[in-house]
Amino acid sequence: MREPFNPSPEIRATLNDLARVHRILEIEGHGDMSMGHMSYRDPEGRGMWLKRGHLALSEVQAEDFLLVTLDGEVLQGEGFRHLEWPLHAEIFKARPDVNFVGHSHAHYATVFGAGQNELAPVNNHGAWFAEHGVPRFDETSHIITTVDLGIAVARDLGAAEAILLANHGIAFTGGDVRELLLCGIFLEWSSKFQIDLESSGAKFAIPDHAESIEKHGRIYPEPAKENYWKYFNRLLDISEGREPQAI
Ligand SMILES: [Zn+2]
Repeated sequence: MREPFNPSPEIRATLNDLARVHRILEIEGHGDMSMGHMSYRDPEGRGMWLKRGHLALSEVQAEDFLLVTLDGEVLQGEGFRHLEWPLHAEIFKARPDVNFVGHSHAHYATVFGAGQNELAPVNNHGAWFAEHGVPRFDETSHIITTVDLGIAVARDLGAAEAILLANHGIAFTGGDVRELLLCGIFLEWSSKFQIDLESSGAKFAIPDHAESIEKHGRIYPEPAKENYWKYFNRLLDISEGREPQAI
């Protein structure tokens, strides 16, 4: 039975951060009308908190989430359950290290996903994905509305941070809310960079794999994640007409 939205104060604070992630991602090119949604694994083991439907990323506030079991039953909250809930649920089932899942139709990453080239660590943002690469799910161009498709995406994601959904969009993950934000932004930025590089006609080389993994560790340690998280939150405060809070 569906109950009113009633998270604990701790969960509500995290949902506030996750709502801010939605709004930052709209600034960063992930918006597509009311499509796109992020989720948070419920720390009390009931399933996941998934953005409710019919809202743009730019409109999401802390109370705009539904508590949904990993079998799709809505336990708490008012409003529409996004059709692509199995995408989130199956990634949470397959990846115990993942506490946040995002899905959007970010423009450049979707352009890149519609091609057949591999995303490479040709700039700093691409180094986020250096260890596992970014797989491409091309079994269908359709949206991920069935459990079977969710399982297939989670299988192809494997241990990676993100996956391109060919002719559709992207899915990306984080162990914490900051990693989710950076993963989504860096996938979009590195896709744009590589599209620009390839379309320039310049010859280029792909940096060494081991070097790129070491570079990831060097440029994105814990203090850097925190620093960039605060930067994007200040950007959001300014864009929403507030004094920036996160210093
Ligand atoms: Zn979609």
